[in-house]
Amino acid sequence: MKYDAAIVGAGPAGSVLAYLLASQGVSVLLLEKERLPRYKPCAGGLTKRTLQCLPFHASEIIEDSTYKIEAFLNKEKVFELSGEHPILWMVMRDKFDHFLVQKALDADVTLREGTHFISLEGGIGSLTLETSAGRFASRFVIGADGVNSKVARALGFTVERRLMCALEGEVYLSDLALLNTFAGCAHFDFGVVPKGYAWIFPKRDHLSVGVLTVSNEARSLRKSFAAYLEAKGLSESGKIKKLKAHLIPYKPNKNNTLGSQKGMLVGDAAGYTDPIMGEGIYFAIKEAWLAARVFVQALNEGFQVAGEYSQVLRDEFFDDISNAGKLAYFLYHFPLLSHPILKAYGKRLAAYHLAVTRDEKRYADFGRALLS
Ligand SMILES: Cc1cc2nc3c(=O)[nH]c(=O)nc-3n(C[C@H](O)[C@H](O)[C@H](O)COP(=O)(O)OP(=O)(O)OC[C@H]3O[C@@H](n4cnc5c(N)ncnc54)[C@H](O)[C@@H]3O)c2cc1C
Repeated sequence: MKYDAAIVGAGPAGSVLAYLLASQGVSVLLLEKERLPRYKPCAGGLTKRTLQCLPFHASEIIEDSTYKIEAFLNKEKVFELSGEHPILWMVMRDKFDHFLVQKALDADVTLREGTHFISLEGGIGSLTLETSAGRFASRFVIGADGVNSKVARALGFTVERRLMCALEGEVYLSDLALLNTFAGCAHFDFGVVPKGYAWIFPKRDHLSVGVLTVSNEARSLRKSFAAYLEAKGLSESGKIKKLKAHLIPYKPNKNNTLGSQKGMLVGDAAGYTDPIMGEGIYFAIKEAWLAARVFVQALNEGFQVAGEYSQVLRDEFFDDISNAGKLAYFLYHFPLLSHPILKAYGKRLAAYHLAVTRDEKRYADFGRALLS
């Protein structure tokens, strides 16, 4: 069988795109190298704009609705932000991603799990995907295969971007009273990781704890992680599971080619995430919508339209992400200047950031607020 679209990678970008295309009558093959459900190192914090972008309700897999954030600087609490609406919705990525795959399957997507994409052959409208489970024919290919996209390389795209490195562990506490003190509240700690931050996100029966850096010193993350657990009083009663490092792309080059007559990239493969906090799921899902629109048009009007996809992503994200990139650079590279500002005005800035994640403000407003 020749599919209209072969999507490589069943993370949020790939599964939501598969769902959106199949819902419009497109024949879709979804390839995933892991057996599902698969674990992905991720804090699993969903913002309001992410939930608004999902084409269906996800309330059944929400682990915790977080109404409060507490921010710390050099271990001292500097502010808290709370309100009557949740700030973050917490998920576990194995369950969340599997839920999205199920939605795609309900829409008639063909899933091949445990199947590695290896290479691509053929011309426009007639491609052959070589995989660990044999060859598949498709008119078009979409790389939703994460930060080290093989599909990008197979399409001949060079995706220039920077990389943050994050280390995440699932921490199970024997002291349940201590676990309960974290319910409904996310912790963000600055000053404990060089050029980065640390977090504690509450889940139903444990805490997701992580450290992130934009520096090249990713090797010191394990030390930072251990020191962070110690500082938070979690070392004694905490059993760490699935401690894993993973890269997050950010600050993509404006001139990157992300679409051609043969294929497109979505999600981490395309390189767009929030450079301040590393939020990527919103971008993965938003890009799925944008890619679906371009693909359906390309299927009807000829594949040359797909080349416009790079410009579509640029128009949607680039200016705002550039503004955010400048703020992130200031925050992480000039702590002697940025930390006193965080201490004095952190609450107001966090409220602006929250408005961005609720799609009520753009990062340009945030920059103006900082300057004023
Ligand atoms: C520690 C950490 C914490 C984070 N916390 C948050 C957070 O709280 N909120 C947030 O919004 N974002 C967060 N992010 C970012 C977020 O995890 C990513 O942006 C998001 O997963 C991107 O989704 P995706 O679908 O593009 O890629 P992925 O989720 O990486 O999925 C790619 C899929 O492709 C598959 N694949 C790869 N290669 C192949 C191949 N050759 N053949 C077949 N399949 C293949 C992989 O197995 C995987 O399932 C975090 C990231 C990290 C590392």
